[in-house]
Amino acid sequence: MSFNGKVVVVTGGTKGIGRAISEKFKSLGANVIILYNSSDNIARELEEKGFLTIKCDVSKRSQVKKAAEIVAEKYDKVDVLVNNAGIWYLFSFEEFDEEKYEKMMKINLDGTIYVTYEFLPLIKKSKGVIINMASNAGLGTSAIGNTFYSITKAGIIILTRRLAYELGKYGIRVNAVAPGWVETDMTIGGKSAEEIEKLRQWFKDRTMLHTTGKPEYIANIVSFLASEDSTYITGQIIVADGGRID
Ligand code: NAD
Repeated sequence: MSFNGKVVVVTGGTKGIGRAISEKFKSLGANVIILYNSSDNIARELEEKGFLTIKCDVSKRSQVKKAAEIVAEKYDKVDVLVNNAGIWYLFSFEEFDEEKYEKMMKINLDGTIYVTYEFLPLIKKSKGVIINMASNAGLGTSAIGNTFYSITKAGIIILTRRLAYELGKYGIRVNAVAPGWVETDMTIGGKSAEEIEKLRQWFKDRTMLHTTGKPEYIANIVSFLASEDSTYITGQIIVADGGRID
């Protein structure tokens, strides 16, 4: 599998799953552009490693538009767009927190829409591929208190299906990956070793393979979905959760 000469845009690629995706594409020869809204130090470090980084909060339409303009100037096409940026707040329906809900919707769902919309002209030029980061939560796999995060991811799932319908005529494929519990800052950040071990065990007990997820597992699926090996796959949601039981 080679991505030599291909232009790949990854949102939220500074750490976790997005970082693993960015590194995978780079190792396969792609020009990788990371849209980030975290620290500039991490961006500098990534630039030194050969990534192009653009500061961009995906929930801000004007920033997304500007990022697309920068990419257009430098490459004039995008072969692969990975809408990975996302946040996770855990609270049940009865604990409804409007501010957190709106922030999640804005980044997870609106951000995916904005980035796809603004980059679409560049993706059309290469009959490219779009891969969205959903979650098994968006398919209703149970997790206590996941209601509103699940709604944002369910939105991404239907968006993926709709985009596949609408963009197929341009030769653009659109798929999503729905990971289960992957160990990143999102799931274990700020927790003690003891808490992490407890969580690991909880998920292992609810997973057919009795293991938790690693960012690399998801990156491998994303690169497959971006490659010619998956040329007849579109509108699909690939669940990668080790076989969640409940
Ligand atoms: P993470 O917190 O390690 O990384 C998230 C990335 O998104 C970071 O780089 C962060 O800076 C970026 N980001 C957040 N808000 C942004 C914004 N407004 N604009 C631009 N970038 C922004 O989390 P992760 O676990 O690597 O999650 C990556 C994606 O995978 C998310 O969409 C998440 O919902 C999804 N996911 C994660 C898991 C899991 O168990 N970790 C499971 C299912 C789905």
